[in-house]
Amino acid sequence: MNGKAQGHTAVVGVDVGGTTITAMVVDATLQPCGHYSGSTDKQTPTSTLDSIQTAVYQALAQSGYALTQIAAIGMGIPGRVDPEAGMVHLAVNLNWDDMPAGPMLSAALGGIPCYLENDLHLAALGYYTFFTNQTIQHMAYVSVGTGLAAGLILDGRLYRGAHGMAGEFGHMVVDPDGPRCNCGNHGCLEQYVAGPAIARAGQQAAAAGLWEPGKEVAKVTAVDVFQAAHQGNPAAQTIINQVGTYLGRGLQALIMAFDIDKIILGGGISRAGDTLRQVILREWQRQAALSPLAAEMLLADKLELAPADSNPGAWGGVALARQMLAKTTPQRLLTTA
Ligand SMILES: [Zn+2]
Repeated sequence: MNGKAQGHTAVVGVDVGGTTITAMVVDATLQPCGHYSGSTDKQTPTSTLDSIQTAVYQALAQSGYALTQIAAIGMGIPGRVDPEAGMVHLAVNLNWDDMPAGPMLSAALGGIPCYLENDLHLAALGYYTFFTNQTIQHMAYVSVGTGLAAGLILDGRLYRGAHGMAGEFGHMVVDPDGPRCNCGNHGCLEQYVAGPAIARAGQQAAAAGLWEPGKEVAKVTAVDVFQAAHQGNPAAQTIINQVGTYLGRGLQALIMAFDIDKIILGGGISRAGDTLRQVILREWQRQAALSPLAAEMLLADKLELAPADSNPGAWGGVALARQMLAKTTPQRLLTTA
């Protein structure tokens, strides 16, 4: 069997994405001891739940912990979540609509409490709890990937907003005549800065003969455009400069609205690393040259890249599980397992 003797002190953090599910087991001393990443099965809502269970079981198998030794599971879901009821009201990328995922997963996983929260809220909580020294009390974790959104830590605590929708600044309209967004509106910020928009612009430039991507035009990704820009291709540089201008303005709005002290850039596009950071800083410098207020607020050291593979979403699940455990009596936990 296993030699783990800590009892109900280990927790599991899970980050459920539209394509990948990551599960991580962390022991009482906060050491990760089991990890699994697998693809999200989206054929039916039930098969998605099954793939979440599989991820949890695989991570547990690696950790040496039995399911009955896990005190709680914290889970990030890409959608609008009611944490009290464990209800997911809408998760477009999972095809979930009013799904009581918390109670269903808890029942399927031996009655272990399963706490749910929006994925970006959890990424912000995870990053803040485990990757900062918490001297900065106002932080935004901004994910630039297939979409654009932020999780906000204000006054040292996760800020959810009235409906758990705080941080959805990717749907801020920057041009009402702009391209149509998945949300139905036109010209949302994420239509200018997120991965699909960058890929689309790169494909258009390649189709127009402005650059040679070295692969089929339809397969050009945002990362290809960043690489081409980094290598000095003028068409790709123009695209990335536009992305930086829009994203720089969006992040400026975030900073001005909440007096944010630190922005952590994560998500798929953040793998473009310093190229992305530099184009944003260029927009901030442009504003700072015009405005003493901007010069005071838009300091370069406010903008950091999340370390690659830091897994803040799964760590956020760990933070949530431990927060909820702290609120619950151990007696109650033992009888639910
Ligand atoms: Zn939108």
